[in-house]
Amino acid sequence: MSDLSAIHLTKQRRQQPKVGISACLVGERVRYDGGDKYHQLINDELSPWLDLQVICPEVEAGLGIPRPPVQLVKTQEEIRALGVEQSDLDVTNALETTAKQLSSTQCQAFCAYIVKSRSPSCGAGSTPIYDTTNQQIDNSDGLYVKALKTANPHMVIVEESSLNDIQGCRDFLEQCYLLSER
Ligand code: SF4
Repeated sequence: MSDLSAIHLTKQRRQQPKVGISACLVGERVRYDGGDKYHQLINDELSPWLDLQVICPEVEAGLGIPRPPVQLVKTQEEIRALGVEQSDLDVTNALETTAKQLSSTQCQAFCAYIVKSRSPSCGAGSTPIYDTTNQQIDNSDGLYVKALKTANPHMVIVEESSLNDIQGCRDFLEQCYLLSER
């Protein structure tokens, strides 16, 4: 039994906190290139203690697998999700519509969310923002996380990169159980 499991054994009989998670982190092959971003520690140490709700917002938006990669670009007025290789590809409306819909319905029941860093949809503060000459000018939230924060201002949102060690997992788990008891 791992350290984390032993500490949280007493939580076994309680209702598990409902937590959203980017689908690629649990091994679903939903990325633009048909791959995944399986995260060992999340799946080994957190998954048994949480009611994980698996969502890929880009698949939900109907973009398909595989799909052309997109990046966030600051145009004159706003941030848009444009094709990396196809500059005439603009999936902003599809992503924003789906993000708003998910955020205001099923995600309302989640106390927390684990998201994939740097993704144009799922990044939480780490997503690169480019200008129209393809120079990176900033980092920000992906479009899905932006909608999640607007619709659920009290939701705890963490990137997988903060769960790369046992202490990070332990702190997150404690936070989820505290939040779910409110
Ligand atoms: S980062 Fe988000 S949008 Fe990208 S594959 Fe993973 S779940 Fe889907």
